[in-house]
Amino acid sequence: MNDCIFCKIIAGEIPSKKAYEDDTVLAFYDLSPQAPVHILVIPKAHITSAADITGDNSAVVAHIFEVIASLTKQLGLNDGFRVVTNIGDSAGQSVKHLHYHLLGGRDFTWPPG
Ligand code: AMP
Repeated sequence: MNDCIFCKIIAGEIPSKKAYEDDTVLAFYDLSPQAPVHILVIPKAHITSAADITGDNSAVVAHIFEVIASLTKQLGLNDGFRVVTNIGDSAGQSVKHLHYHLLGGRDFTWPPG
């Protein structure tokens, strides 16, 4: 996707602070952190949002959650953490490339705003 900033981060055209990378998944630190730990975990294949997950592309989602579990152990988020994905404009999705926010290092309220 030519105009997708996360595709540009994957391609190395926009710099990022990487937390993890393999053939199908990239994790990098959010530019505007909302918690002491705020990492975005994304598929390298362009998927617009979680509303576009199908049987053809869902394997990477399972892998993303394996990566998240591994990162949280590495980062010592033993008391808990939050994983959020926003879908569409009314949920506040500003980048239309599937991403999971991994937030940790503080307490979180429920329900979210
Ligand atoms: P969302 O609003 O759920 O679509 O989340 C998009 C996230 O991407 C926001 O938390 C932004 O701070 C973050 N973001 C946007 N551009 C960059 C960038 N170049 N590097 C790191 N994070 C970014």
